[in-house]
Amino acid sequence: MKIFDVYPINNINLVKAKDMTLWDSEQNQYMDMYGGHAVISIGHTSDRYVEYLTKQLSDIGFYSNSVIIDQQNQLAEKLARISGKEDYSLFMCNSGAEANENALKLASFHNGKKTVISFTGGFHGRTSLAVSATDIPSIIAPVNETDNVVFVEYNNIEQLTKAFDENDVTAVIVEAIQGVGGIMVATTEFLEAIRVLCDSHNAIMISDCVQCGCGRTGKYFALDHSGVKADIYSMAKGIGNGFPVGAIMISPKFTAKHGMLGTTFGGNHLACAAALAVVDEMSEKGLVENAQIMGDYLISELKKLASSKILEIRGIGLMIGIVLAENSQPYRARLLSDEKIFVGSASDNRIIRLLPSLTITKDSCDKFLESFKNILK
Ligand code: PLP
Repeated sequence: MKIFDVYPINNINLVKAKDMTLWDSEQNQYMDMYGGHAVISIGHTSDRYVEYLTKQLSDIGFYSNSVIIDQQNQLAEKLARISGKEDYSLFMCNSGAEANENALKLASFHNGKKTVISFTGGFHGRTSLAVSATDIPSIIAPVNETDNVVFVEYNNIEQLTKAFDENDVTAVIVEAIQGVGGIMVATTEFLEAIRVLCDSHNAIMISDCVQCGCGRTGKYFALDHSGVKADIYSMAKGIGNGFPVGAIMISPKFTAKHGMLGTTFGGNHLACAAALAVVDEMSEKGLVENAQIMGDYLISELKKLASSKILEIRGIGLMIGIVLAENSQPYRARLLSDEKIFVGSASDNRIIRLLPSLTITKDSCDKFLESFKNILK
């Protein structure tokens, strides 16, 4: 049987990884400035990660949500502490799309309304309502097309206010920093306006933190930089460091009812072990603070490279976009082939996206900067 060919893949077979270093089957060594698409938060195969998962697997790997899974309670407590959202509740699932799907469903169950406001450049996943709220028409199948989603220009308060006036809005879903959309940072005024409009229209504010959450930007959630609080935070990627874990954090305004949300695999023992390893490692090693410090350093050093080839450097913490004056593909290809460095792209092909592990050191930043200068020559 062949693999269904939906990914343009690099001809590289990775066989080993440690922290930010990857090795392929030809013994080539690479630097991971992409974190496997913002997933690797505490470094590949960190000792604690391997230890927690191995121990859990030898005890019990899985049982369904029909029994007490105490690891979920431990995780909820630790996530509450690290995020500062002490009075929120936790629901676990398996991916970012699923987290957003559950967030949108919960909003609609809560206020009984149907219209979702999403933004230009937004990416929320590939399942039914999540993909309908994603601003990439080519990945929306006819069956996913719906009048229940209204798109508003990102950072446009006037359009947002008009959309609230014209629709019976159940929820607004927003990335405080758009990832796939090209590291677009929401203004504080815009995020504040979403909060105010949601409150005055009995609508739910959903902060999609699948990519910009879990400490990547130097705060636990990117939205925290604005001081605004969402009703629901969706998470995935970095929360499991590679193990498929998704979750939503739910404000106390919601009332849970048996059966309203559910999943077979979500929150299983192994998934919790992975997420516990991440949160323990982040707390004990100060990785959220490190993301802020190393991110500030990388951004300020990258800004010094301003030239006719680089239009802009944007982002916060370790969510960084380098906007080139032309298609970034040849630059990314040379970074990979000549410098052996993985980086990402975005829907705007001029962008190079950096999403390294939160464990990154100044030495690694300097090594990347040197390599990047080489390929700019
Ligand atoms: N939301 C955001 C902001 C994302 O960046 C992504 C994936 O890139 C998703 C949701 C979907 O996550 P998943 O691929 O785990 O379903």
